[in-house]
Amino acid sequence: MSTGSAWESALFQLDDAARIIGLDPGVHEVLRTPRRTLEVAVPTRMDNGEIRVFTGYRVHHNTSRGPSKGGLRYHPDVTLDEVKALAMWMTWKCAVVNIPYGGAKGGVVVDPKSLSRSELERMTRRYASEILPLIGPERDIPAPDMGTNGEIMAWIMDTYSTREGYSVPGVVTGKPMAIGGSKGRESATGRGVTYVTLATLKHLGMAVEEARVVIQGFGNVGFHAAQLLEEMGCVVVGVSDVKGGVYNPTGLSHTGLSTYAREAGTIVGFEGGEQVSNQELLELDCDVLIPAAIENQLREDNAGRVKASVIVEAANGPTTPEADDVFKEESVLVVPDILANSGGVTVSYFEWVQDIQSYYWDDDEVSERLRKIMERAYVDVLALSEEKKVTMREAATVLGVGRVAAAHQTRGLYP
Ligand code: NAD
Repeated sequence: MSTGSAWESALFQLDDAARIIGLDPGVHEVLRTPRRTLEVAVPTRMDNGEIRVFTGYRVHHNTSRGPSKGGLRYHPDVTLDEVKALAMWMTWKCAVVNIPYGGAKGGVVVDPKSLSRSELERMTRRYASEILPLIGPERDIPAPDMGTNGEIMAWIMDTYSTREGYSVPGVVTGKPMAIGGSKGRESATGRGVTYVTLATLKHLGMAVEEARVVIQGFGNVGFHAAQLLEEMGCVVVGVSDVKGGVYNPTGLSHTGLSTYAREAGTIVGFEGGEQVSNQELLELDCDVLIPAAIENQLREDNAGRVKASVIVEAANGPTTPEADDVFKEESVLVVPDILANSGGVTVSYFEWVQDIQSYYWDDDEVSERLRKIMERAYVDVLALSEEKKVTMREAATVLGVGRVAAAHQTRGLYP
């Protein structure tokens, strides 16, 4: 089966979906292969005058349903295989929520914290100009991912616009509001995670007020998911960041946690709960476990010790195929990443739509449109999972792959 790499997992999931729907072998081969893969050298002048050359990637996995869409990751462990996997997952994700995009992803092999702000800006602008032939509002639209943020998107938007000679806000999403960002983008992924968690509790007949939730990761996604789930009445009993976790069976205060984290730079040491390791956090007694940090957290070696009956994958690729088998065996319901965390790309789509129309929506409009799309996607995936008697992951992949294959077959193969 898989060797544990994200690309192996992504191919395994596609092959599984292809088998379930009896996908045409030729179309299957097309979908196994990224449409375009670009590797670029990013020479950057450091503040001390030296030049360092970073390696960057941009992958378009598929563009049958529209321009490709996907985040940009700055991390020392970025590999081409990881970028390819993330691009493929973006293709299925956009199709699951039925927005008119294909999938892409970008990455630069760098620890952004090791660069000064001006080094980061020079590196970003050079990377943006190297991938310029691939991006554009009708071509491919980057967005933030791990290690990147709205400011980095602003530099990319400015680099692209300067080369075009006029402002092109729709070339990236996740931008600051001052240059065409959307209301609600910051919290969108956590909000989407919240909507699918509530839909799952409803489906299982579990009371929201009795649901005990554990969240791994207290970054953009984990922070907002914890806040909104608490607002909805769930009891968030455990959270963690890269340094460790805290647990309180009677509930952690989000306000207390965020105030502490803002000052300490971590949640470790927060006195409203007992300290636990990240490994212990995943195995805590709870109803819903939300991995919202990085890949490959739930594996064959720890899946059997997970006590939650529901896993909502806020992170991309947190569960290996082997762990999936364990969860299937033990009837743990896994709400897959391509459904659970699609709130981010959905509000990115809203941002792009608003940019193109030069018209802006208020918070309520964004949240309400997001809720409708997430609930629709949840119902579609659940229905397919019941109809085909497959897991939610298989159903979501089948739904996504089926929609992309239909677009590909309807358009036909050029020439
Ligand atoms: P982030 O960088 O803001 O936060 C990541 C969090 O995970 C931090 O709290 C960090 O301390 C923690 N973390 C890192 N390594 C860890 C480890 N080994 N163990 C435990 N915790 C660890 O990132 P984010 O934007 O919140 O993204 C989190 C995940 O969600 C990623 O997989 C990302 O691809 C996915 N995602 C994000 C978005 C989005 O809109 N931000 C959208 C879709 C998917």
